Amino acid sequence: MEKSKKVLIVGAGIAGLTAALELGRRGVSSLVIEKEGSIGGHAGTYACKAVDGRCQKCGACLIRDAIRDIKETPEIGISLETSLAALHREEKGIVARLKKGEKETPARFSALVLCHGFQPFDPAKKSNFRYGEIPNLITGVELEQMMKEKGNVFRPSDGKPVKDMAFVQCVGSRNPALGRPYCSQVCCGYALRMARQIKTGNPSTSITFFYMDVQTFGRDFDRMLWEFRDAFYWIREIPGDFFNTTGDRVGVVVEDEGEIEEMTFDLMTLSVGMGPSSDQPVFEEWLDLSLGPEGFLVSPNQHGVFVAGSATGPMSIPDTVANARATVAHVMDYLEETS
Ligand SMILES: Cc1cc2nc3c(=O)[nH]c(=O)nc-3n(C[C@H](O)[C@H](O)[C@H](O)COP(=O)(O)OP(=O)(O)OC[C@H]3O[C@@H](n4cnc5c(N)ncnc54)[C@H](O)[C@@H]3O)c2cc1C
Ligand code: SF4
Ligand code: SF4
Repeated sequence: MEKSKKVLIVGAGIAGLTAALELGRRGVSSLVIEKEGSIGGHAGTYACKAVDGRCQKCGACLIRDAIRDIKETPEIGISLETSLAALHREEKGIVARLKKGEKETPARFSALVLCHGFQPFDPAKKSNFRYGEIPNLITGVELEQMMKEKGNVFRPSDGKPVKDMAFVQCVGSRNPALGRPYCSQVCCGYALRMARQIKTGNPSTSITFFYMDVQTFGRDFDRMLWEFRDAFYWIREIPGDFFNTTGDRVGVVVEDEGEIEEMTFDLMTLSVGMGPSSDQPVFEEWLDLSLGPEGFLVSPNQHGVFVAGSATGPMSIPDTVANARATVAHVMDYLEETS
């Protein structure tokens, strides 16, 4: 294969970094462009969920390992705060206009791997959550960041410790009315791991899960549910309405074992799911790609355009790594065929 071949990778999350590392290991150069000012994507903002020093296999440190390896791989170039102004296929390769600040630079690549990831569901899209109005109602993304930065949970309203908290599962997932009928795969796992970590650090904190029926839970859920079930309260209902009560406690009305009950908590976390990136339609238009029924890109793996990681659908960090590695095997086949 010609040494001059270079692959453009869009997005420096775990998918993009893994793709670059796999190409680098095979001697293929790549340029990874990242629209933000740092690499790591969403996973770079997540907490280590080890409990009493024991790993809970959340996968978050895979990003730390990838960032370390990137620095030792000379085949990889990274351009931060860079996005695409235009993109099209030519008979032999991809032509891109890279945009950094006001400057646009044309560049030619042998292949393209789209690793632009996902967007967490924005609960402001559903007015009943009153997200943004209720100070102690946060998302799983915000809880991840709080656990990473502070190592514990606090009420955003006054910074006080949390005596009781709740997780609401399946927010923005498994909801056909929102056009999101699918399971996001990861929110049971991240919520349960964080709950276990919080409970171990603060044994007196009471934690309640509001969840749906058990048939279609995410992969991690059944195993962990049985392992930790006695540590938490389980209410098989997703509350409909949320409100702020005295002392900035978050209130919900639920039916628990036939009784209508108002329940309040110091902190409530919406376990938001994974949705398609807002850049998806642009790539679809530029490259004539098709979207699957759930709005994610269908991996085309053809004519030099490849898609890896959560841009193809909800998946965990370890599954994203596996997906990016498998995609690179196809990229290598393509580069061999066209050399
Ligand atoms: C709240 C929450 C908690 C989670 N916790 C866990 C967990 O504990 N364990 C686990 O295994 N999984 C977890 N996940 C899932 C995990 O976030 C994903 O598996 C992982 O982030 C997917 O990586 P990715 O590289 O495909 O996408 P992303 O992490 O979304 O990375 C995409 C990158 O591309 C960049 N980008 C996007 N568009 C462009 C563009 N046009 N130009 C240039 N750059 C672009 C973005 O800025 C970003 O850096 C969680 C998900 C959520 C929502
Ligand atoms: S997999 Fe998760 S819990 Fe285990 S060490 Fe890594 S970040 Fe911590
Ligand atoms: S992973 Fe769990 S919380 Fe997330 S959508 Fe699936 S069942 Fe619901």
